[in-house]
Amino acid sequence: MIVVKFGGTSVADAAAIARAAAITRSRAPRRPVVVVSALARATNELLAAAEQAAQGQLIVALRGIEGLRERHLVEADALLGNGGDADDVRAELSAMCDELASLSEALSVLGHLTPRSLDAIAAYGELLSAALVQAAFRRYDLPADLVDARDVMVTDELHTRAVPDLDAITENARRVLLPMLSQGRLPVVGGFIGRSPGGVTTTIGRGGGDFSAALLGAALGAEAIEIWTDVDGMLTADPRVVERARLIEVIRFDEAAELATFGAKVLHPSTIAPAVQRGIPVFIFNSRRPEGRGTRITADAPRRAVSAIAGKGNVTVIKVNSSRMLLAPGFLRTLFEVFERHHTSVDVVATSEVSVSVTVDDPSRLDALLVDLRALGDVSIERQRAVVAVVGAGLGGDSTTMARALGALHGLRVHMISLSATEINLTIIIDGDRLGDAMRALHAEFFDRPPEAA
Ligand code: ASP
Ligand code: MG
Repeated sequence: MIVVKFGGTSVADAAAIARAAAITRSRAPRRPVVVVSALARATNELLAAAEQAAQGQLIVALRGIEGLRERHLVEADALLGNGGDADDVRAELSAMCDELASLSEALSVLGHLTPRSLDAIAAYGELLSAALVQAAFRRYDLPADLVDARDVMVTDELHTRAVPDLDAITENARRVLLPMLSQGRLPVVGGFIGRSPGGVTTTIGRGGGDFSAALLGAALGAEAIEIWTDVDGMLTADPRVVERARLIEVIRFDEAAELATFGAKVLHPSTIAPAVQRGIPVFIFNSRRPEGRGTRITADAPRRAVSAIAGKGNVTVIKVNSSRMLLAPGFLRTLFEVFERHHTSVDVVATSEVSVSVTVDDPSRLDALLVDLRALGDVSIERQRAVVAVVGAGLGGDSTTMARALGALHGLRVHMISLSATEINLTIIIDGDRLGDAMRALHAEFFDRPPEAA
């Protein structure tokens, strides 16, 4: 069996749901379990309505919910027409929106929002979409059965980012989903939502649909997990910066994880870890261009010297000089404790005999942090730096890559360099206004030049 997951943009409206049905049909011989996200933007709108209701803006909140009702009913009309069970489906969608309205009223009376009530409201995005998609799939003659995700996805009680219990999910998935599959049925499950052991609705974190798909795939020992979204897959660089960026057909999980820290927004690899750990390949496909080859993410793809070029701007470099203390045992610990105390995470680190340089992404707590750092040595700050990274699991094993990377950047000022211990990421800190130039130069070096010219 396989898991086929459609993100919000891939079920955004009737046309998208029709494409999803065609994609699912083409997978029918592989016995898919379908996981769906809420319609695009629906989760944001639900969370906004919850906030508004709790802040006493009940009318605004209810308007948002009526907007969602309208949207689901319009798409239902387009997909289901009249007759059959169309009226029942519409009544069911509408009833869920009535429940949302009652919840909003309750929140406005309470004037107070808890993570638990946020989950109660946010879950309706996937409850609505799963009901709509299942009914639509039936119209397209797919043997779709609706599964309440909460009957399968057990989590703890940490509302809004509840931690799934894979053992319990495995037990439930086998009990609930396997019999459906063996009868030739097509289960449709909402992603993102679950239920605590006490029976309360939970959610597993924003963007959690991918996580749900990976968990179900791991639970059922899927042959593959397909994540259908609105981009072709992972690319060799951000195409807004590097025009010649191209699709990566196979990428290692560790490389994908590295790219995610640079804001590759396709998917967050930690969400697919349960699948990758069990050796299940995860594919990313574009539901608008289903004929595309997509990207396959696996734990064991060959180690290429360079798989992608990543970059991010707005990085702050902090340098601490301390001729007196640097070599003293425990100095680095003391230094990093300062960052920990100020909840500031450090990304890149380089040291010399007398100085330590680090980069931080989030300078919001810098003022207080600097006061503490100055107790340790002379501190200088460089704002508006950028990080470019050459990412490839075979980077360390290839003696020319490093030289080629620095060669490609000739003419640019390099402020810091770091090669990660796993040798998967060569990180170079440059001037912020040269980020695009640096990414294009590195991309040209590693992806546009034929190897013999290199
Ligand atoms: N609907 C949820 C969100 O928007 C989960 C998902 O789409 O993956 O965060
Ligand atoms: Mg998503």
